Amino acid sequence: MPPQVSLVLSCEHGGMELPPWFPRPASQRFNKLLKSHQSYDKGAFELAKILAQVLKCPLLAHTYSRLVIDCNRREGHPDLFGKFIVGYPSKTTLPKAIHIHRAYRTKLSKALDSCLPPLGPENFTPIHLSIHSFTPIYKGKRRETDVGILYDPKRPQEALLALKFKRAFIQKFPGLRVQFNKPYRGTDEGVAVWARENWGKGSKRFTALEWEFNQGTVVRWSAKRKKLLAGVFKEVFSAEFGL
Ligand SMILES: [Zn+2]
Repeated sequence: MPPQVSLVLSCEHGGMELPPWFPRPASQRFNKLLKSHQSYDKGAFELAKILAQVLKCPLLAHTYSRLVIDCNRREGHPDLFGKFIVGYPSKTTLPKAIHIHRAYRTKLSKALDSCLPPLGPENFTPIHLSIHSFTPIYKGKRRETDVGILYDPKRPQEALLALKFKRAFIQKFPGLRVQFNKPYRGTDEGVAVWARENWGKGSKRFTALEWEFNQGTVVRWSAKRKKLLAGVFKEVFSAEFGL
């Protein structure tokens, strides 16, 4: 039986929308912050849409700003809520933010349940890709990564696939700085970690990769070049799983 793959894409920091109940401060500082990398991952949703189109797979996206709630953090995490709503004098604000978070995680759970059966046959590989972007300069230092592939080093299937992606990207785009587990570690808090805990325990083949794209390089590419990038994803999945 030929190998098979089932893909789900997600994008947790896809937009800077604010719900109507949000206690939006009328200040220039807030407006600047809303448009910054602290609010959302610039260009990540656009890139995720191109990938979903090329790979013909479902895409779940959260488009409320991280200043409201961070859907890449689980409930109880100290950075779950945006700093502007913590301490806001309303008993309903935090529960409303939690409601947004739960609705997103429930949708993502359903997508993972239906597309990624953890006890599938040996030839079946369930894959979750979460798409993010990062600011090129952090705390005054320029980051030396264009594409970060974040995986769990304890999961051989993830390490192997990450390596194949890295080789394919460098071949297609010589000079592209593709690095593993940078600028963050694949085991840092995020939906990929949560997906591994919930869907990966029963399946060694379950693969959760977080993708981090540099907002100063890859995210600024033309639509044509982004499609070429998506084509690399397609090539790797075709070679590995006959997608
Ligand atoms: Zn992100």
